[in-house]
Amino acid sequence: MIDPAILEEIKNIVTPENVYVDEPMKNHTTFRIGGNADVYVNIINEHEILRLLRFLKNRHVPFFVIGKGSNILVSDSGYRGVIIEIGSGYSGLRMLDDVIVAKAGTPMSKLSYFAMEQELTGLEFASGIPGTVGGGIIMNAGAYGGEMRQVAYRVKVVTPEGEVKLLNNAQMEFEYRDSIAKKKGYIVLQAEFRLYHGDKHIIEGIMRELNQKRKDKQPLEYPSAGSTFKRPKGNYAGKLIADAGLKGLTMGGAQVSEKHAGFLINTGNATSEDMYRLIMTVQQKVRESFDVLLEPEVIFLGDFEPYPPEDYE
Ligand SMILES: Cc1cc2nc3c(=O)[nH]c(=O)nc-3n(C[C@H](O)[C@H](O)[C@H](O)COP(=O)(O)OP(=O)(O)OC[C@H]3O[C@@H](n4cnc5c(N)ncnc54)[C@H](O)[C@@H]3O)c2cc1C
Repeated sequence: MIDPAILEEIKNIVTPENVYVDEPMKNHTTFRIGGNADVYVNIINEHEILRLLRFLKNRHVPFFVIGKGSNILVSDSGYRGVIIEIGSGYSGLRMLDDVIVAKAGTPMSKLSYFAMEQELTGLEFASGIPGTVGGGIIMNAGAYGGEMRQVAYRVKVVTPEGEVKLLNNAQMEFEYRDSIAKKKGYIVLQAEFRLYHGDKHIIEGIMRELNQKRKDKQPLEYPSAGSTFKRPKGNYAGKLIADAGLKGLTMGGAQVSEKHAGFLINTGNATSEDMYRLIMTVQQKVRESFDVLLEPEVIFLGDFEPYPPEDYE
């Protein structure tokens, strides 16, 4: 429960119609799982973000930023604090000379198609990733040989201390599914992309081909968070899970996909507990079979066991 006085102040800072109390997080995650957040705010501009962050920090109110919720598992008991969506309300793209400038809430698919329209190549890989630019930058999202680190030119962030910074590619310290912003809790406000000139029809063809590959290989008909685990060095999580005989393993409504074992899916009415137990079980069984510890790529939010265990590499 949020203090009513705090709630009133939040409504004075951001657009009041975009403030929701006791909001089910299953409506804001691609797993379609998760209990209620005390307060949910959909941000519409940078000014709102900066003022809200300052206020919540001063009042010691816990908060968590999400984009499209496509890489998050929220616990059944939900989240005690304020969820800040930098997503649908804060989306937009423009060209500034030869650079694409994207607001953090812009869907990555929109960014890819915009680049294609501008006859710019390099973002084809991102056209089927269902997250936002902010989430993609934080996670250094990637697919089919492409990654955000290859295309991000500069990123505008706000630090936990409230300082707005413009970081160049090197300063972002991108690593596999990681970045300085993720490590330090920076919030992404905007990202700039510098790409090469390309042929629109070729770019479109590559995007079509990659999206067909996704449809053929991934269980897109079920709610999921994509690949549940990070790729272990020199191997593939999906292969190890399949080789351990875990395809189809089911716990409540959570299941290891038969189509792609790297995807743990919600078959309809999974609880967060079901999904969490399945993740833990897969991790344990793969470790027993191959002595490889799979590290979840999915981010856990709310009341779970501490993560990650200390012995991740
Ligand atoms: C069907 C499917 C396919 C997928 N395929 C891929 C794939 O090919 N490659 C890949 O890398 N991922 C993939 N994913 C996972 C996911 O889409 C990516 O990790 C994506 O980058 C997450 O973006 P998001 O906006 O949904 O972030 P969220 O899931 O909302 O958040 C993820 C993390 O980013 C943080 N965050 C989000 N926005 C901001 C912001 N503006 N500032 C600071 N922190 C922020 C959150 O706090 C959280 O820590 C897939 C997911 C699904 C469901």
